[in-house]
Amino acid sequence: MIQVRNLTKKYGDFFALSDVSFDIERGKIYGFLGPNGAGKSTTMNIITGCLSATGGSVLVDGKDIFDKPIEAKRKIGYLPELPPLYTEMTPAEYLAFVAHAKGVSYEDAPRKIRESMEQTQITHVADKLIRNLSKGYRQRVGIAQALLGDPELIILDEPTVGLDPKQILEIRELIRELGKTKTVILSSHILAEIRAVCEHLLILSHGRLVANAPIRALEESATADARLCLEIKGEEAEALSILKEIEGVWDVEPEAIDKDGICRFSLKTDPERDPRDDIFYTLAEHKMPLVEMLTKSATLEDIFLSLTSQDVSGEHEAPSEAPTAEEYTPLFSAKENEETEEKEGDEK
Ligand code: ADP
Ligand code: MG
Repeated sequence: MIQVRNLTKKYGDFFALSDVSFDIERGKIYGFLGPNGAGKSTTMNIITGCLSATGGSVLVDGKDIFDKPIEAKRKIGYLPELPPLYTEMTPAEYLAFVAHAKGVSYEDAPRKIRESMEQTQITHVADKLIRNLSKGYRQRVGIAQALLGDPELIILDEPTVGLDPKQILEIRELIRELGKTKTVILSSHILAEIRAVCEHLLILSHGRLVANAPIRALEESATADARLCLEIKGEEAEALSILKEIEGVWDVEPEAIDKDGICRFSLKTDPERDPRDDIFYTLAEHKMPLVEMLTKSATLEDIFLSLTSQDVSGEHEAPSEAPTAEEYTPLFSAKENEETEEKEGDEK
């Protein structure tokens, strides 16, 4: 439902995004993972039509977000990193304001607001001031806001940042629930979070997309890359030549030699023909005691770290300058602010 092609965003000479392309299909929960400064918020701001791009295109159901922003935006509910909450309003007032700004009709608004509050379980705090709500509840109000107008796609930018562990679990559960009926894109700098909630992983690093695959496939490729680690008492060259002759051993890499005359090897082996018994008996025949044998498989963490840890020098601090007025379109336009305050009075 979304096609992102060659998306680039420059701030001066700095590439916040370079040449990012991916597709979002209906009905899945996508995880956008990357360290701080990787470009997650920039991407989300662009695909929701809140920020202009320097190059590339974003199609939402075939409609260009830059040429037809209203139609494209209608399909997307967005919870930005800093939710645009008016803390002097109650959730009921605020959602009525948002419903109006999103063009929900007056007949439909009360029902839609009620549904979005039920879905996010904030009905019981509907009439409290937002500023008096906990951060977890404010985040729910932010998600309720994103749900208004029945968008097919919900985009949530780091929705659990700053929440306590219980709130984090509750918000994750809520996101999983939403994923049953909507397409969801969730960003996070925490791998465990993405793994807990998402099916498909997109990893950004320094403005580049470095992985784009189902989480299960990445996990399988991590275990397929397992290596067998051996510690052998004896001479390295001899052990090496013995190991190389064993059937099922594909690749032998010597590692550091211990001062006690223990040499270490890392082996790639044939998954179809487990050579561990042969290794044990052959070394024993040669009177070379095998003191340790261990299978080490890469984890998703290892993959994430190796994909995102290159060239940390390019890491940037927090945004140095705010986007210029032409670049940034607020979620709701300011003029819709005026008449709403009294309207919500009728809601209750
Ligand atoms: P993330 O959300 O992954 O933490 P961002 O998308 O916010 O990352 O930022 C990506 C990069 O772009 C960062 O290096 C950030 O400093 C830079 N950046 C973001 N906004 C601006 C801006 N308005 N001016 C200059 N640099 C910016
Ligand atoms: Mg961000």
